[in-house]
Amino acid sequence: MIEGGGSGLDAVEQGIRVTESDPGNPSVGLAGIQNAAGIVQLDACIMSGPGHRAGAVGAVSGYRHPISIARRVMETTRHVFLVGEGAEAFAKKHGFEEGPKVTPGQKAAWKKWKAAQAAEEAKAAKAGKPINHDTIALVALMPDGNLFGGCSTSGWGYKIPGRVGDSPIIGSGLYVDNEVGAAGATGIGENVMRYCGSFLVVEYMRQGLHPQEACIETIRRIARMDPKGYDLAINFVAI
Ligand code: ASP
Repeated sequence: MIEGGGSGLDAVEQGIRVTESDPGNPSVGLAGIQNAAGIVQLDACIMSGPGHRAGAVGAVSGYRHPISIARRVMETTRHVFLVGEGAEAFAKKHGFEEGPKVTPGQKAAWKKWKAAQAAEEAKAAKAGKPINHDTIALVALMPDGNLFGGCSTSGWGYKIPGRVGDSPIIGSGLYVDNEVGAAGATGIGENVMRYCGSFLVVEYMRQGLHPQEACIETIRRIARMDPKGYDLAINFVAI
């Protein structure tokens, strides 16, 4: 889209929609792993460097492209973040594409998980890890120097209904500062959102660190502060 002269916002949105549409991706979009109640709840946000604008949605089910709903929140409301039923009503009003609240494949997996829940929970709790998770965080630097970013996820598999991770939280799963840079996060959201991870990456770049170093320094800092030590399972991308 960028090579074709499209806007950076379009490029970020369309790039993320590719992943949201992937039926083989268990961590982004409606093919994602459901929550503990058997429903896929999606989180997403988008940011435009120009104007320092942002939009986000959290815990949205039944819509294929949370990134596009987030963009619409940014572009048509005075708010930044809509969640749950309110976000779904907003999506309905704006005619966004609906989809199943869970795919048949994931539903079958959920039934199995439910049956084995006690054993799995004990195992996961012991390891201190979620059973499955991932995200797409996408940042773009345009030829004119403007920055854009987006982030989208189905979150932590089998999470407690209503749980929202770092991905739609501005400054945690994504941050864009048009004067400095953009950063996004994947991994266990609880280990990113307690530290405003993406904001921190951008702030390190503001201090002069190379993007790679800014990501590493952020992880070092979180690791230093984390009482659980180094098993953080977090990742950053920055430009
Ligand atoms: N950051 C996402 C969340 O916590 C999941 C992930 O990227 O693994 O919801």
